[in-house]
Amino acid sequence: MTKHTPFSVSRRRALAGAAAIAVAGAPAILRAQATAGRLVIVGGGFGGASAARAARERFPAVAVTLIEPAASFTTCPYGNLLIAGRYSDTSPITFGYDKLIARGVAKVTDTAVEIDSAKKTVRTSGGQTIAYDRLIVSPGIDLKWNAIKGYDEAASAAMPHCWKPSLQPVTALTDKLKAMPDGGVFIMSAPPNPFRCPPGPYERASMVAEYFKKAKPKSKILILDSKDGFSKQPLFLAAWKQLYGDMIEWVSSNNEGRVVAVDPASMTVETEFGKKHKGDVINIIPPQQAAKIARDSGLTGGGDWAAIDTRSFESKAARDVFVIGDANAAPPMPKSGFVANNTAMRAVAVAGAQMTGGTPPKALYFNTCYSHVGDNYGISVVGIYRPNADGSKIDEAPNSGGISAREATADIRAGEATYADGWYRSITDYMFG
Ligand SMILES: Cc1cc2nc3c(=O)[nH]c(=O)nc-3n(C[C@H](O)[C@H](O)[C@H](O)COP(=O)(O)OP(=O)(O)OC[C@H]3O[C@@H](n4cnc5c(N)ncnc54)[C@H](O)[C@@H]3O)c2cc1C
Repeated sequence: MTKHTPFSVSRRRALAGAAAIAVAGAPAILRAQATAGRLVIVGGGFGGASAARAARERFPAVAVTLIEPAASFTTCPYGNLLIAGRYSDTSPITFGYDKLIARGVAKVTDTAVEIDSAKKTVRTSGGQTIAYDRLIVSPGIDLKWNAIKGYDEAASAAMPHCWKPSLQPVTALTDKLKAMPDGGVFIMSAPPNPFRCPPGPYERASMVAEYFKKAKPKSKILILDSKDGFSKQPLFLAAWKQLYGDMIEWVSSNNEGRVVAVDPASMTVETEFGKKHKGDVINIIPPQQAAKIARDSGLTGGGDWAAIDTRSFESKAARDVFVIGDANAAPPMPKSGFVANNTAMRAVAVAGAQMTGGTPPKALYFNTCYSHVGDNYGISVVGIYRPNADGSKIDEAPNSGGISAREATADIRAGEATYADGWYRSITDYMFG
């Protein structure tokens, strides 16, 4: 399966001895777990927190260290629902690490700044050097500042992205929407592929429409897109018509939808052939790339995303390093929290087997992307995927997966919204419960 053979018993004993020496000065919790090897995880979001929990449960003899700078994690999923006014602040979508720590995960509250895959260490900005036997990297995305002319971090104060909660909470957008007069124009610039959460911009437009319908019914939504199509497009377009009339207008790339420049001072955006649009609230979702630590450590090979062996999620650039979540390139799987969690399971299964001498099960990957389109109105797309024999690509399993039906009763749409809520509760409970 992977390019490594499982460890022999004598190698495992040697590794266990090395691990015991390496953690001699470590906190008691770390000393207690370290017998079969050291798994270090960079990033405590969907991929990293899932990997930490899975590793503690499946490989209790492996010492698990999670490097994450924040004291708590606010999810992107369900952030859009705050825009609709379904709750009033980010507390329902914010989680602490205390339960993971209680499960025996050693949390290092710091930022990883260097991965030395030859010495098998991670250096943090606080000056710690942490040794690993296997490393899982799940740092998510960075935004590409100035890929849209004029759109840098300063401009994002006037024209929020709200695509990375640690950088800008979704309240940056809700505050502006609340202050906007009825009859105003909300503009969204949707990014080119690949990006975090393919249906996310369109769920967000839906949630803005839900809010406008209740609070500012004369307002309009203009989506300027860098693409000619988007995830679940026919379902979104039909639902928008049904629920919001002509409130939402979507402009594709080939109809001059691609935003190329912004001017925060005049609150205008400019599209490819020089057309300018003025908005009262503007949400720019810029092009994206793997987070800095993945790029700086050579895992992306100078490109935007980390190349991986699709059978294991082990990096093609660094042995014993696994890159999961949004930071890797694993098409046709989307960059989703569901996939980050699912591929965390795979990386842990392979890394854990390598450290303890077992054999990982056959690889099969899943995704479901739910979207809320309105009150009690949900839609979804499901994909089931397999790596190919040499780990160079991922294929959709034949005759699997699917998308919500074009025609469905209100009960079915309401049911999908309920399933979405159940998914969110269960995945966050797995990560942080
Ligand atoms: C609006 C929106 C809605 C979405 N809705 C859904 C949905 O309904 N369903 C779904 O499946 N997905 C959804 N997603 C996508 C989902 O949020 C991402 O795919 C998922 O978070 C990716 O997980 P990750 O582990 O790669 O990154 P993240 O979850 O972002 O976690 C990365 C973590 O790494 C940490 N980190 C970064 N750099 C370092 C470093 N150098 N050292 C240490 N730690 C570091 C960060 O602090 C962060 O905690 C949505 C996204 C958006 C923007």
